[in-house]
Amino acid sequence: MVTITMLINETLLRSHPSRRKMRVYNQSEESFMGRTREVIRGVLPPAVNWHLWLYCNYACNFCFATYEDIPRADRLSKEDALKVPKMLAKEGAEKITFVGGEPTMCPYLTDLLEAAKKAGLVTCIVSNGWGLTPDFLNKNHHLIDWVGISIDSADNEIHAKMGRGLRKDIAAGKSNHLTLTEKVWKNCKELGIKMKLNTVVCKENLNEDMSGYVIKLRPERWKIFEVLPVKGQNDECIGDLLLEKGEFQTWVDRHAWVEREGIQFVPESNEMMRGSYAMLDALGRFYSNAKGGHEYGANSILEVGVKQAWESNVFSKEKFDERGGLYDYHEGGAALPVLENE
Ligand code: SF4
Repeated sequence: MVTITMLINETLLRSHPSRRKMRVYNQSEESFMGRTREVIRGVLPPAVNWHLWLYCNYACNFCFATYEDIPRADRLSKEDALKVPKMLAKEGAEKITFVGGEPTMCPYLTDLLEAAKKAGLVTCIVSNGWGLTPDFLNKNHHLIDWVGISIDSADNEIHAKMGRGLRKDIAAGKSNHLTLTEKVWKNCKELGIKMKLNTVVCKENLNEDMSGYVIKLRPERWKIFEVLPVKGQNDECIGDLLLEKGEFQTWVDRHAWVEREGIQFVPESNEMMRGSYAMLDALGRFYSNAKGGHEYGANSILEVGVKQAWESNVFSKEKFDERGGLYDYHEGGAALPVLENE
């Protein structure tokens, strides 16, 4: 029997996302598409990224989410933060991604995961790996559906140049990012957590071929982001890292063959990244990057509710669809084993 899941996976594998101009769900998935229409035309798209934590212990030069425009003391109380997942779920969210800064630095992340699961949400943590210790994962893996780990290179010297590493390491001219993330990756896989790989392409890693490394990691999904200038977030450091016209596509073309190995390959140009994410900040305000910087809503969802807070947010449903924002996150496809000896 051909299931909706199989149809979606087949569609994702058949069409090259770097050139895909159509939605990933098509007429052959009418019932799935029907649900999609209903959700997106409601209040929220089904996937919300909550940038709940402003702090990060890494020093990435290109960081799109420094939040230096938000006073560090400003964030929701733990008590209010725990209300957020249920509020989002009530208005149509199906998946919540905990992002930062570095979300594992939040001391009550476990409580938030529990609240999200109680609200019936699919959960994802996007992390540099630092806080995904064996202890944390053993205690919380039943609450975590997806983990997204950011790895930009198979070479720590390139990571050091990009600032992808602990601040103290980067200050000393080195990065141990791969050592850390390889352990985290293996632990997550062994615990049955579905894995997403996030890679930022900039001048420093432009000429690299990461394909072999990624095939060994075997993520379910590999998201590739063109380094993004965001006014007020990374103005000072981004200049030398930006790509020329066509360079991102060249990088994408070099790596696209990993799709044939069953890895969902999802490149996102600057154009595709702007205004296509539903993002909530540490104060519980929706915000948009559609116009080049962060535009934060006037009120938090705790003050005016999700519906009203969302109404004034700039968001492109078409771009969300086009970048494959609604993928099969409930199932995640078959878990792909890590290849140990290649
Ligand atoms: S790990 Fe993420 S949040 Fe932290 S500096 Fe790097 S890109 Fe920014």
